[in-house]
Amino acid sequence: MSIEDEKIVMPGDKIGIIEQYLPGDGTFDDNGDIKSAVLGNVKINQKKKVISVVSDAKPALLKVGDIVYGQITDIKPQRANVKIDCMKDNGRPLALPYMGAIHISQAKKDYLEKLSDAFRIGDIVQAKVVKITGDNVDLGTVDEDCGVLKAMCTRCRDYMHTTQKENELQCNTCNKKERRKVSKNYVND
Ligand SMILES: [Zn+2]
Repeated sequence: MSIEDEKIVMPGDKIGIIEQYLPGDGTFDDNGDIKSAVLGNVKINQKKKVISVVSDAKPALLKVGDIVYGQITDIKPQRANVKIDCMKDNGRPLALPYMGAIHISQAKKDYLEKLSDAFRIGDIVQAKVVKITGDNVDLGTVDEDCGVLKAMCTRCRDYMHTTQKENELQCNTCNKKERRKVSKNYVND
């Protein structure tokens, strides 16, 4: 039996036998038959005699340098916690419900006395992945396109707009001014 490279297979489909190939990622050995464990494309490495199945629908894994969107869930003295929603340039869902954190030193270029001058709970942010340790993702918002994209007034919960002043937002309703690390992509509406 031989199977074509790139052929789309379903979980449980027989794609080879162990006399022919070593079972690779996305496959399992079923009494000498190599079967697919996932829905995906067959990949055959003829040199190493390994057959694998690669799922294109596989969720995206974050890596250092990726730009993500998320929401601030908590502000601690040293770090702001972020629920990471998605990657900026990749529509695929993320592999894990990643939690990120922005350390106070990674929030903006110049010295920041307190993190609440950069973020508040509920803010939508754009951030860059600076370090990954297991499921923990360290984020940074130093770049000018990173920072708060959308924020609500802490007094009346209406949305805020940018002002003439850098890193300042003003409430659309009650005119309260608040400080944030504002992204140059902030959404005014
Ligand atoms: Zn307000």
